[in-house]
Amino acid sequence: MKIVIIGAGAMGSLYGAKLSTAEAPVYLLDVWPEQVRAINEGGITVEDAASGAAEAYPKIRAFSDAAEAGEADLAIVFVKSTLTARAVRENRAVFGEHTTVLTLQNGLGNVEGIAETLPRGRIIAGTTAQGATLLGPGRVRHGGKGKTVIGELDGSVTERIKAVADLFNRAGLETEISANVEGLIWDKLLVNVGINALTAITGVPNGELLLHEELAELLAAAVAEGEQVAGAKGVKLNIPDPVSHTREVCAATGKNRSSMLQDILAGRPTEIDRINGAILREGAAVGIAAPVNAVLHKLVTFLEKNGAGKPRRGM
Ligand code: NAD
Repeated sequence: MKIVIIGAGAMGSLYGAKLSTAEAPVYLLDVWPEQVRAINEGGITVEDAASGAAEAYPKIRAFSDAAEAGEADLAIVFVKSTLTARAVRENRAVFGEHTTVLTLQNGLGNVEGIAETLPRGRIIAGTTAQGATLLGPGRVRHGGKGKTVIGELDGSVTERIKAVADLFNRAGLETEISANVEGLIWDKLLVNVGINALTAITGVPNGELLLHEELAELLAAAVAEGEQVAGAKGVKLNIPDPVSHTREVCAATGKNRSSMLQDILAGRPTEIDRINGAILREGAAVGIAAPVNAVLHKLVTFLEKNGAGKPRRGM
C-alpha cells in the first residue's frame, strides 16, 4: 500500500516514520523546504519522550510537489485543520481513482474540507491519542502513546478499513475500527474544547487546569456547552461523561503543554476556529448559545493576532 502523507509536521513525521517499517513505501509532502530537505538527507529521527532513546527511520522520501510523490493508495492528511481544504486542493496530484483519504486531525470540518475536492466515499476518518512535538527539521519527539481509532463515514466495516487498520497495527500504531466515527470526532473535539483554549490563554500545562477552581469551572462549562450542542445535533458520543473524561485527560497529560499553547507561544496560527469556534457555529445552527466558548474563542483570537505576554502600548 503506497502511502502519501500531506503535512510532514509533528504527526505526519511520526506516522510516516512508523508506517515506513510496515513494508509500505511512504512519501511525505510539505510546503516547508527545510523539512523536505532534512528528511531526504537523513530520514526522520523519533525521540521517545519517556526513555529519551532516539531511533532513525531512513526509508522515507519527502517532496514539496505532489506530482513527484504521485498517486497514493492511502493519503493521510496531517496539516492543521484550518488548512485541510487548501492542502487537499494543492496536493490533488496524489489522489487517483482508487485513493483512500484518511483524516486523523483534531477539530471539526476536516471531512467536509476534504470533500470539497473528493467524493465522500473515498474518505475515512478517525482520531489519534498519539502525541508528537517537532524538535526541528527531521526530528520529532514521540510524547503520549495511545490508540488510533478509524472508521468508514457510514459505519460499515469494509475490506479497506480492515486493511488500513492491519497496516497501522503492523507498524506498531495500535489501531481499532469504530462504527461511530462522528461520535469519535466529537469525543476528541470536546476534550480539545475543554483543554486547548484555556491552557493557551493562561499559559499553564494541562494538569494545572484541575488545580485552580476558576479554570476547572471554565473547563467544565465549555465542555458542557459542547455536549449540549452535540446532543441537539443528534451526535452519539462514545464517552458517557465528557466533562469527567476531559478532567481525566488533563490528569493523564498533566505536564504537557497543549498544542494550542505551543502555537500561541511560537506566534503560529491555532486551530481555535475548528475547536471552540466549531461549537459556536454548530450551536448557532441548532439554536444553542455557547457563551463560554464564545469568550474562549475571542481571547485566543486576540492572542493569535497580538501575541502572548508582550508589553503593549500604554503599559
Ligand atoms: P504541525 O503544524 O506540526 O504540522 C503540520 C504540517 O503541515 C507543517 O509542517 C506544515 O508546513 C504542513 N503544511 C501546511 N500546509 C500544507 C500544504 N498545503 N501542503 C503540505 N503541507 C502543508 O501540526 P501537527 O501537530 O502535526 O498536527 C496536525 C494535526 O494533527 C492537527 O489537526 C492536530 O490538532 C492533530 N493532532 C496533533 C497531535 C500532536 O500531538 N501534535 C495529536 C493529535 C492530533
